[in-house]
Amino acid sequence: MGSDSLPSTLTSTKPTPIPTNELDEEHDHDDSPSTAALLSFNTDSSSSSEPLSTSNNKPLFIVLILVTCISLSVASAFAYLFFSSRSPSSSSTTTASSATSPLPSVSHARPLTKLNRPKVILISSDGFRFGYQFKTPTPNIARLIANGTEAETGLIPVFPSLTFPNHYSIATGLYPAYHGIVNNHFLDPHSGDAFYMGAIDPKWWLGEPLWETVVKNGLNAATYFWPGTQVHKGPWNCPLNFCRHYNSSVPFEDRVDAVLSYFDLPSDEIPDFMTLYFEDPDHQGHKVGADDPQITEAVSRIDRMIGRLIFGLEQRGIFDDVTIIMVGDHGMVTTCDKKLIFLDDLAPWINVPDNWVISHTPLLAIMPPSGYSPSDVVAKMNQGLSSGKVENGRYLKVYLKEDLPSRLHYSASDRIPPIIGLLEEGFKVKQKRSKNKECGGSHGYDNEFFSMRSIFIGHGPQFARGRKIPSFENVQIYNLVTFILNIKGAPNNGSASFAKDVLLSAA
Ligand code: AMP
Ligand code: ZN
Ligand code: ZN
Repeated sequence: MGSDSLPSTLTSTKPTPIPTNELDEEHDHDDSPSTAALLSFNTDSSSSSEPLSTSNNKPLFIVLILVTCISLSVASAFAYLFFSSRSPSSSSTTTASSATSPLPSVSHARPLTKLNRPKVILISSDGFRFGYQFKTPTPNIARLIANGTEAETGLIPVFPSLTFPNHYSIATGLYPAYHGIVNNHFLDPHSGDAFYMGAIDPKWWLGEPLWETVVKNGLNAATYFWPGTQVHKGPWNCPLNFCRHYNSSVPFEDRVDAVLSYFDLPSDEIPDFMTLYFEDPDHQGHKVGADDPQITEAVSRIDRMIGRLIFGLEQRGIFDDVTIIMVGDHGMVTTCDKKLIFLDDLAPWINVPDNWVISHTPLLAIMPPSGYSPSDVVAKMNQGLSSGKVENGRYLKVYLKEDLPSRLHYSASDRIPPIIGLLEEGFKVKQKRSKNKECGGSHGYDNEFFSMRSIFIGHGPQFARGRKIPSFENVQIYNLVTFILNIKGAPNNGSASFAKDVLLSAA
């Protein structure tokens, strides 16, 4: 995929500039009032001596020359002390933004002590909603946060906030319309073939994922699960020992231990980039919603896995050399019986049968057969939904995909059906009334909802310690990884300056 196929709306996705030590230092040098005062002192003293130079009083003139020299020496000494006390590490400058975004204690990346090249472990905890880290003590995640860089109000998923679209956006830096995985389940409109979670035919998976980029650049990658890793793409052919085939029953401990064992290989065989995936707490979130002791236990367990990883790296003396990026793909919101909308209730306005619907909820995606005008279907559905006569109708609005808010970046693919519905948080669409129990949890909603946010923590030589950065979309992560590994990435929807703003500069 060339960069010319990227959306022009990219400019609107640029992250808020993040203050860095370097910027603050530049600012200090630029308009230092003290510097200006020293210069004007010198100027004043020379101009004030001018009338005296015409005097014939020689002794007084000599005294004044001496006083001027002493003044200049004192001024130079003050100037020296002033500038030498403003080294990056001792700067006490505080700006409004640095109050919420503490400046890193050093402005340069910390050198590697044991490894000869940067190594990145990218960890995903599925459905780890932002805020879950406060449900229970999470000492190991807290350690990464305290000594690393955290998105202070969470990581923003791409729309739709579902597992496959988001994991592949993290891996490629592309919005789903450009990487092709537009939903967990969808149809190819030309062949009619169905994509399902676990489909590994390369025809579905567009863009260039990190594992392919890494190998293209002559480095090694190893994947312990991640949607898309089993797909053969370019030089990436999912090598037997470094590409685990998805199996949800592998204990989490085994996954962590396998990643740790890669560090026992001869140094030039240690993978430079590794993925590590956990199904929890998404799995529990669907069953019981976002607030339940089962979630608390799942979060605790993920924390123990992070602890196991840290311990293994420490035992090998490489914890501070290895970069750990911990993310989730999306959040979770509790859903329950009364928050339902039934398509059959729209019958007085338009009949929307089950076989028009590619997915019901939370992403309502409709493809009417040829002969039906999508805009006519949208108009009639919205008429019914806003009539006040359809139960919960006002919590769903349907759009032609090209009319969706542009911030969703969800139209530029023919795999996206022509009609998309946006639901209010926690609501679900069903075809018809049933006796099924509907309480549980869900995700897939508008990525603007806070409940859909997940976590971002970066820990390692190029992440400042104890730094908070504003929330950002997960399409930025691709460039972060390529920057850390110092390799050339493929064109993507992330912003070119993001990595420089977030990471410490090379030592
Ligand atoms: P979601 O329906 O969006 O919550 O999807 C989450 C589910 O995706 C997990 O519970 C897994 O069962 C499944 N999953 C995650 N990774 C993979 C993978 N690499 N291959 C197949 N299924 C996966
Ligand atoms: Zn997920
Ligand atoms: Zn899920």
